[in-house]
Amino acid sequence: MAEKRIAIIGAGISGLSAGCYGRMNGYETTIFESHALPGGLCTAWTRQGYTFDGCIHWLTGSAPGDSLYALWEELGAVQGRKMYDHSVFWRTVGADGRSFSLYADPDRLEAHMKELSPADAEPIEQLIEWIRTFDGFSMPVGKPRELMSGFDGLKLAFRMRRQLSTLKRLSTITTGEFAKRFQDPLLAAGLAEAIGGHTPLIGLVMTLIPMARKAAGFPAGGSLEYARAIERRYVSLGGKICYGARVTRILEANGKAIGVELADGTRVEADVVISAADLRATLNSLLDGTRQHETHHVLLEAGKLYPPCIQVSFGVKRVLHELDECLGESFKLRDPMRLAGADVEWINVKSYGFDPSLAPEGCSVVTSILTADWEFWNRLREDRAAYEAEKETIAAACTEAIDARYPGFKGAIEVSDVATPLTFARYTGNWKGTFMTWMLSPEFQKQHGYVRKTVPGIDNLYIASMWTVPPGGLPGAAMAGREVVQILCANDGKRFVATKP
Ligand SMILES: Cc1cc2nc3c(=O)[nH]c(=O)nc-3n(C[C@H](O)[C@H](O)[C@H](O)COP(=O)(O)OP(=O)(O)OC[C@H]3O[C@@H](n4cnc5c(N)ncnc54)[C@H](O)[C@@H]3O)c2cc1C
Repeated sequence: MAEKRIAIIGAGISGLSAGCYGRMNGYETTIFESHALPGGLCTAWTRQGYTFDGCIHWLTGSAPGDSLYALWEELGAVQGRKMYDHSVFWRTVGADGRSFSLYADPDRLEAHMKELSPADAEPIEQLIEWIRTFDGFSMPVGKPRELMSGFDGLKLAFRMRRQLSTLKRLSTITTGEFAKRFQDPLLAAGLAEAIGGHTPLIGLVMTLIPMARKAAGFPAGGSLEYARAIERRYVSLGGKICYGARVTRILEANGKAIGVELADGTRVEADVVISAADLRATLNSLLDGTRQHETHHVLLEAGKLYPPCIQVSFGVKRVLHELDECLGESFKLRDPMRLAGADVEWINVKSYGFDPSLAPEGCSVVTSILTADWEFWNRLREDRAAYEAEKETIAAACTEAIDARYPGFKGAIEVSDVATPLTFARYTGNWKGTFMTWMLSPEFQKQHGYVRKTVPGIDNLYIASMWTVPPGGLPGAAMAGREVVQILCANDGKRFVATKP
């Protein structure tokens, strides 16, 4: 029997993953990607011999033993790849020069925090106890929620019986709220700065857990190279990929998806369409906007989105070895400033000096990331001069701030670059330029369960992007691609197969 043809929209990590698993399960797959490159948000760009990485800070599942590692192995991304790990997740330096290192190792973290602030023993012990609840935990990779029976649910609940109540508790409190329990302002700021005060505390704990066992590293070569490895795996499985091919419409007939139409007017027939592109654009632009699951509707109308970011990247003729130990550092400004419509009290800085492949010898890439306000940037969309001026102001402000902390930095800069929320939106089509998705509340999960990967009233259409696995991130994107193929196989009465190269 002829293979079913799948048209996949988008060659981000979720689209590439859907393509790989589609091929492993005997489907004929073609990915249509607007851009000239694979990876979507998982990307990097080169300026004057420096590779500015635009994505991976930590890759969950980067080491054997973590359940996600097997997923990355299936996608051919980790085999033979060196991973760089950090012992300190985040370092925070107050205006008085005191420094708090958020060690990944809970014993070291507890001792360090208590040394900094014995008066905070109670919340410190609470935090460490929560972290220890998740000792050895890694994200289960199994069946998608759509295919889980009541028995599967019970098995999962049994497997997570030790963690469930802590998981719920930490999902309802933000890192910023928990930080208020600390008397020492440095510890409070350090917790909030590490991952964003608006983020549920569970996000911080889930980051520290794999980092403590060196399973959340940075893949040598960076994000684009990582995406290219998955693209190679896809092509080696016999998958086709078309670049410069923007899909403008999902074609339908008799309540079924029957293919896609491209920007140049080409119509491509398919038996199944998988959209691995932005959810809002898929429902409202590639379709006519009249069909949405209640879950999609509620989230698109009122879901709390992760704010977008501004990334300032520098190519510098030196290596900031002071930053070797930590993934990144935030330091408090003596004089707060106003940048891009927001008050800025802290500047963060990260050095990629650990990966020599990203810069000429003796040089390194340094970045600074600021939380951004989408509305501010969206207003600049039509005013190129004002947009460029704002970027210059931001680059200059970060330069001065980093130079004040690391004297000589400014004089060593060879090249700089500013990516804004408009850059991310233009490059990937993601709504409001965001790089993650929503922060789901336990109430939402209680009411809706999970985010659907189908569209009501249209058969043979699946959604595989990070938007179906909030809060997003690379493991979520890879899982989304895997899960839609699992659903597809179940609908076709086939046993799902996953292989390793
Ligand atoms: C600065 C930054 C830091 C990050 N840090 C981390 C991290 O440390 N760890 C982590 O796990 N994750 C991180 N992420 C998040 C992670 O990159 C994303 O969650 C993930 O890559 C999303 O993958 P995706 O395939 O679902 O979507 P995308 O990457 O957005 O891919 C969608 C693809 O579809 C294409 N497309 C869209 N519309 C069309 C169309 N109409 N026709 C054809 N093609 C189309 C786009 O061009 C794009 O290639 C970070 C992201 C950013 C930007």
